[in-house]
Amino acid sequence: MNDQISISVSVVGTGCDGTGNSVIFHVTKHGVYSNDESVVRRFMFNCGEGNQRLCGENGIKLGSLNSIFLTRLDPMSATGIPGTILALGTCGAPTLNVVGPRGTHSYLSSTASFAKRRYPQLHCLEIAGDTMPTIESHVSYKVIDSNAIAMALDDLYVRILPLRMQSHGTKHSPPLSCQLCEHPPVRKPKVNTPKPTLSKELDEFHNWLNVFFMAKAPSKVPYIEVIANRYKGREDELKRMLHEKYGSLDKVNDSDASSSDSDSASEIETCEQQDKSEDSSFEKWLENFYKKHNPAMLPRMASVQKSYAGREDHLKKMLEEKYGKRSREEINEDVSSKKAKHEDSGTESYEAFVTPTFNDTPLKDDISEIVFYILEFKHTNSSSIVWVVDLPSSSWISKLENELSSCSTHKPVFIVHMSSAQMLNNPLYTKWVLANSSTTTNHLFFDGSILSNCEHGRLGFNFKASAQHRLNLHSQAPTLFPLTPAFHSLSTSSQCHLKMKVDSICYTLAQARMSYIIHASKSYQVPNQFQYEVLNWEYPSIQASPPQPFSYPSIVFLGTGSAAPSKLRNSSAIYLEYSVNAGMLIDCGEGTFGQLWRQFGPLTSQKLRNLSCIWLSHKHADHHCGLLRILYERHQTHSQVPLLVIAPDDILNYVALWQQPWATKNVHYISCQEFNQVEDNPLRNNLFATTGFQALNSILVHHCHGSYGLVLVLGNGYKIVYSGDTRPCNRLVFNGLDADVLIHEATFEDEMLDDAIKKKHSTVGEAIAIGQKMQAKAILLTHFSQRYPSLPPKLQTTATSIVGFAFDGMHVQLSSRGFDNLERFMHLLNQTK
Ligand SMILES: [Zn+2]
Ligand SMILES: [Zn+2]
Repeated sequence: MNDQISISVSVVGTGCDGTGNSVIFHVTKHGVYSNDESVVRRFMFNCGEGNQRLCGENGIKLGSLNSIFLTRLDPMSATGIPGTILALGTCGAPTLNVVGPRGTHSYLSSTASFAKRRYPQLHCLEIAGDTMPTIESHVSYKVIDSNAIAMALDDLYVRILPLRMQSHGTKHSPPLSCQLCEHPPVRKPKVNTPKPTLSKELDEFHNWLNVFFMAKAPSKVPYIEVIANRYKGREDELKRMLHEKYGSLDKVNDSDASSSDSDSASEIETCEQQDKSEDSSFEKWLENFYKKHNPAMLPRMASVQKSYAGREDHLKKMLEEKYGKRSREEINEDVSSKKAKHEDSGTESYEAFVTPTFNDTPLKDDISEIVFYILEFKHTNSSSIVWVVDLPSSSWISKLENELSSCSTHKPVFIVHMSSAQMLNNPLYTKWVLANSSTTTNHLFFDGSILSNCEHGRLGFNFKASAQHRLNLHSQAPTLFPLTPAFHSLSTSSQCHLKMKVDSICYTLAQARMSYIIHASKSYQVPNQFQYEVLNWEYPSIQASPPQPFSYPSIVFLGTGSAAPSKLRNSSAIYLEYSVNAGMLIDCGEGTFGQLWRQFGPLTSQKLRNLSCIWLSHKHADHHCGLLRILYERHQTHSQVPLLVIAPDDILNYVALWQQPWATKNVHYISCQEFNQVEDNPLRNNLFATTGFQALNSILVHHCHGSYGLVLVLGNGYKIVYSGDTRPCNRLVFNGLDADVLIHEATFEDEMLDDAIKKKHSTVGEAIAIGQKMQAKAILLTHFSQRYPSLPPKLQTTATSIVGFAFDGMHVQLSSRGFDNLERFMHLLNQTK
């Protein structure tokens, strides 16, 4: 059995570009006589911010993910989970298992106010022996007793053994020999089951029913089992009946669209699905092309296709030029010479980071428990063993020696080190690695700071589509879309693959879109070799613009999409710089830290250090899921500036769970209501004293319960109004009269008024009308439905005020010069449409 199985691992987040370290393993089953293949298992290790977007960029369908394993519980590793839950809900995934250290269950439970859905049902497995849940929760709970280590998973394809380590724990047993010897596979008694092929079909039918009912009649989902049994052997008949009754499933089948606001989930699905059907003939072409010319690319076809979506002809031309009429042999030669080059560039880079310049300043009170994982993938007569190891700081190394070891028959073939170069350079760590690996073991390690510093930061980009989009926008309006230095490095498109050698161990640095085949069943797949996509950037001609004087206030749109983040529009966030080196955040959707980093590069820490206020509009995930990571990153800057978080109660309850210094030290929290009411509040007085603000009022608007808009008057009298998510709201008009700038949501175009009413959002025309009623000098529109990714919806109303459509990363200085730039760009957009 399992002789037609391939096992591979892909890098998801690299620790750079606002992502956390994460990998995903794929178990793929191949057809015996055909080239059919299907992914039967996907396990993700750690799930940082931006996970939905990253999976989109990498062509990984979230719908097939059913387990997430956490090596630690912190904002770097776990804050992508709420968004992932919502995305899975949209795909109709029935369950999600989350395995992690103590606290994982509380964390999942705390997301109830904004990420609780009927599906996926959440199951949590905590690697801790002495705690039991004390709270009512929608998340099912199981504890693995740390004294009797057990399997977290044991099925047809893999066994996963978690190992807990504590910073202050007493060691529970004498040094271990080999965990896998101590846990031999349990032989299950043979049960008389129907043919495996049949059960697989049934399984697929179950899945189909689940997706169908989720889309068409969710109330039927609990009865799937009953229905399936009743129609056993007559599945086709049932399918036909269901289609007749509810209509065809075409539009929702197997969509990997994702949503974090209930806002526009279904529309995303339909949009993407339409695109896909148009693509299918191209997909066939590409498949045949790669089969013929470069089969090693087949596993990454989806990701290639995604990055060239809408530019298929361009890709076709490029590929034909690249491979032309060359024969297979030539290509192979090419691959091996390229491989040699990679080795070379690796060697050249050694000096660059063998002595890392940054300090290992672990925040020791941060992490008290971590979990290592031993994975045993089962295939023909043997198995592949993989370790996932994560050490927060060097003080943990001595524990490592005692707790994780292997015998000669259970040496890992692959180790994922979620640790920095500095850790790997520690002689004790080297000793441990040498003792537990063989010369054929391959090593992957993570170090975001190397990626952002080497090659001028060119390897640091994880979100290629948005980076490319930004290059294009910059060429049209350089002052609205300034580039950080890293963007300029993209004009050179050489290949690079960084390695680090310590003693005889060779570590490969995880970079975006890297993958590795651990075990291959088909001859066209090359195992034991790192593969990565060579990024070819289209670098538009960019003229150096003369430096312009900078004026305050300035607004930077960090996220301008509604609902789930998409490639080109992240979820809501605005950075307002109200005076030199002083700023605040208005809303803070998932991935806000990464968006800041893409705007300011190395200056990001300065911006975070000087952050005085974060104001959040309402509890929908797309407006606040980035808060934890921002607090975490701010803490790393050793900021002395007190930070005030003003938010609705639901969000404050969610954050209150985190009692670590990054969430409490020099950070204060107050609800919108309380901030409004108490005139003599020290927090309010303090904020006004440090920022010079004359007024900051949260105005109740018409969206979900407890949704606010913001009216802010700066020290110089400048009045800024933000709508949050809302239907047109007169209370906002009244409070915002004579605003200098109104930033208003405009989720839908005017033809979609019905949707706007149903989902409690505004149309473009309504938003502009509100601005005119308010007599705002300028109206900036944002929060666009993801159906308008690269261009905003049509502007239909002629307005007397200045009207601008926001894009991610747009910098608008609120001065007459800034508005001139904006109007010029809007004019340009109208011409291109
Ligand atoms: Zn929203
Ligand atoms: Zn909302």
